[in-house]
Amino acid sequence: MMVEEKKQTWRESRIKPEQMAKYLQDGRDFIDDDALEARLRQGEPEATRVRASIAKARAIQSLDLDEAAALLAVQDPELWAEMRAAAAEIKHKVYDNRIVTFAPLYMSNVCVNSCVYCGLRQENDAVARRTLTADEVRAEVEILAGKIGHKRLIVVYGEHPRSDLDYMLETIRAVYDVKVPARRGYGQIRRVNVNAAPLPTEELRELQAVGVGTYQVFQETYHKATYRAVHPAGTFKGDYDWRLYTMHRALEAGIDDVGIGALFGLYDWRFEVLGLVAHALELERALGIGPHTVSFPRLEPAENTPFNESLRWRVSNDDFEKVVVVLRLAIPYAGMIVTCRENPGMRRRLLPLGCTQTDASSNIGVGGYQDAEQHGDRQQFLLADTRTLDEVVRDLAAMGCITSFCTAGYRCGRTGQCIMDLLRSGAEGKFCKLNAILTFREWLDDFASAETRAAGEPVLQKEIEEVRQKMPKAFPEFMQSYERICAGERDLYF
Ligand code: SAM
Ligand code: SF4
Repeated sequence: MMVEEKKQTWRESRIKPEQMAKYLQDGRDFIDDDALEARLRQGEPEATRVRASIAKARAIQSLDLDEAAALLAVQDPELWAEMRAAAAEIKHKVYDNRIVTFAPLYMSNVCVNSCVYCGLRQENDAVARRTLTADEVRAEVEILAGKIGHKRLIVVYGEHPRSDLDYMLETIRAVYDVKVPARRGYGQIRRVNVNAAPLPTEELRELQAVGVGTYQVFQETYHKATYRAVHPAGTFKGDYDWRLYTMHRALEAGIDDVGIGALFGLYDWRFEVLGLVAHALELERALGIGPHTVSFPRLEPAENTPFNESLRWRVSNDDFEKVVVVLRLAIPYAGMIVTCRENPGMRRRLLPLGCTQTDASSNIGVGGYQDAEQHGDRQQFLLADTRTLDEVVRDLAAMGCITSFCTAGYRCGRTGQCIMDLLRSGAEGKFCKLNAILTFREWLDDFASAETRAAGEPVLQKEIEEVRQKMPKAFPEFMQSYERICAGERDLYF
């Protein structure tokens, strides 16, 4: 097919009005801007009401919009301290001291959209455009999985005919192809999550079939007037509802783990938190499954992108902490992702308050892992934390956290509704705890520096002791697997 012809077919196959219309209620989507704003105008809530919401969240029940809005209106420092403590407690109850790590892999930086805040917008001449070939993808993965030791990736695509569904399928297969020898075992990516443009249902089915983990699409801003202002009309991304209902389509297509997010700094952070809560509640209502993960990136400076230099709605560090606390309380079962957009100090501050996943050794230039140094001219924005995975794992160990490289969940069907029930009841934690230990053992033996290994061993031994005490029945079988890993076997999981 000629390039122009392919472009035309591709355009026509993008936005399918019938695939979103069926989810509208009385012709309207589930974000009622005026009603959300009105909730945010209500005054400071009574302490008893706040404490009732905290108790509900502690029981791992989602908060409704009124409850979430009330938490956002709290001014009293003592009540905030109680909320922070509860957020940390809930994180611990659902996810224990585990942190999952991953790395982003930018497959392409070509994009037909014009998001004013993004370095990859099509008008930005300062960016050198590139689309990785399958061989180049394999070369990137050899570094990520073979040298650094990552087991999970989030692969990222711009929206463009050169990075269409066929390209996505080809490059995801290329990632799963790679298996490279490591110090003792081997390096391999076992879970590929995807961050890409909203796809139609039939394409999402194909994505599901190739074996993706989480499918992420961030709404950027739930506030419609702001959405229109930063995503020009006539671009694909200019269609708010097409994007808003992506996760409905993904769940319908059988992708059970979906990731929602908002880009903080475009509009009032309180509104965006309510937008995310409304999105989670709507997915629970309409499809019975809430989001697997929630992301809350803050806008970062980007090459030749003046919009980001004078943000009216820039979110301060203290307010950003509140974003994390309220999200943790309102959507207590969901994974929460903090990325290298945040500096090390901020990540240390946010992780204990409810975050469950973080990236490391990240490079967001296309082809950046092979080129080693950062490429300002190929990046979407600039990173604030450039520490290696080894350094991050060591830092987490010093905080008492175990880095989990577990990817068992989707490979043994613990996704979607099933995982939500398990998380709410606390049962998922048992599998996760065992798998975190097994995969951490693997990683320490295969990839850790001597210093990081020394920092990780006490954490590992403490976890093993907890399994012995808290899961005496499972302990002997678990230890058999642990010994097999120590002897060099790999990829064992419960
Ligand atoms: N093109 C797809 C899309 O827009 O959904 C997926 C890839 S896009 C590169 C991934 C995310 O990066 C966007 O959803 C947005 O939230 C985030 N992003 C864009 N510009 C950013 C910036 N300047 N700072 C921080 N995050 C940014
Ligand atoms: Fe393209 Fe995504 Fe950047 Fe928008 S945010 S310009 S859609 S890569």
